[in-house]
Amino acid sequence: MKVLITGGAGFIGSHVVRLFVTKYPHYQVYNLDKLTYAGNLENLSDIEDRENYTFLRGDIVDAGYLEEIFSGYKFDAVIHLAAESHVDRSISDPLAFVETNVIGTVNLLNAARRHWKDDLGKHLFYHISTDEVYGSLGEQGLFTESTAYDPRSPYSASKASSDHFVRAWHHTYGLPVKVSNCSNNYGPNHFPEKLIPLAIHNIKSEKPVPVYGKGENVRDWLYVLDHARAIDVIFHEGRVGETYNIGGVNEWRNLDLIHLLCDVMDQKLGREKGHSRKLITFVKDRAGHDLRYAIDSSKLMRELGWRPSVTFEEGLSKTVDWYLENPGWLESVTSGNYQSYYEQQYTNR
Ligand code: NAD
Repeated sequence: MKVLITGGAGFIGSHVVRLFVTKYPHYQVYNLDKLTYAGNLENLSDIEDRENYTFLRGDIVDAGYLEEIFSGYKFDAVIHLAAESHVDRSISDPLAFVETNVIGTVNLLNAARRHWKDDLGKHLFYHISTDEVYGSLGEQGLFTESTAYDPRSPYSASKASSDHFVRAWHHTYGLPVKVSNCSNNYGPNHFPEKLIPLAIHNIKSEKPVPVYGKGENVRDWLYVLDHARAIDVIFHEGRVGETYNIGGVNEWRNLDLIHLLCDVMDQKLGREKGHSRKLITFVKDRAGHDLRYAIDSSKLMRELGWRPSVTFEEGLSKTVDWYLENPGWLESVTSGNYQSYYEQQYTNR
């Protein structure tokens, strides 16, 4: 089996690539990644020499390049994670999100259809998406697979659009597809522009920890390895044409989460309890900030037997340990352009 994984140098993609390369040594795994600011081959340095792993540097917006690699490598299946993924960046530069998330996805669908048309049933296009496509919830309720789409940020609008294109290729051309929509991930290798790694980085260096608005937004959090395990199960056992929601049954108000993180870090760094909470700084809320996301993953649990394997406390502790044990990774990604992005986002508001 030749599996093309797109976006494999990013946060979630790197965990999916490692899982497939190590768990399925008889598969050939191809990681196609453009290496944007969010892509980092260091995430995969432990498996880069494996015989069943190949890195391909390329852009999914470039249809000619996709034609070349589909012709050359003859992939059996695609797991599509490549995306522009940060909501704040989508607010300042929406077009980049349309290009990669919409046009890039359609290019991949076209390449798959063209190359697989004679034996479509032997192939699979698995698209990885987000629960943000469903919009925002009030204090009650959960997103299910039949919740109507209501994307509200340029990021979620671009992901919603890509989900629709994937399903359209299934209905119109018979392309075998699967889609999964997952809640917020956290864990090792997460770029420090997102809430948890940014807070870990700042608490560690005793810098202000920015929290949007009053910190009242609620998110469901899932440890990234549990997402990778869900992708593995859905890829192998999920039903073609189906959508599966993935979540941690683990809702946290942002401010409560940051309090917990401060306490974990105080304990690990030998600081007095309460020390890091003093770093919390409320900043102007994100434009159009969705209040609450919460996801019902009972279909995945019931049909495929998947469950989150770690509690939030365990996952957070492992995550903090990883960042404390890998200061070089954090330093390499927070040098250069990161500084100007950070200042524009959190200091000139
Ligand atoms: P990420 O930003 O860490 O990684 C994205 C990867 O895609 C990077 O390696 C980047 O270099 C690559 N990429 C970007 N544009 C590309 C292009 N034009 N061509 C080829 N490669 C390109 O993102 P992530 O957090 O790992 O998210 C991966 C996927 O999972 C995305 O599709 C995202 O929408 C989805 N998702 C993320 C979360 C989350 O909490 N992070 C939750 C649910 C779903």
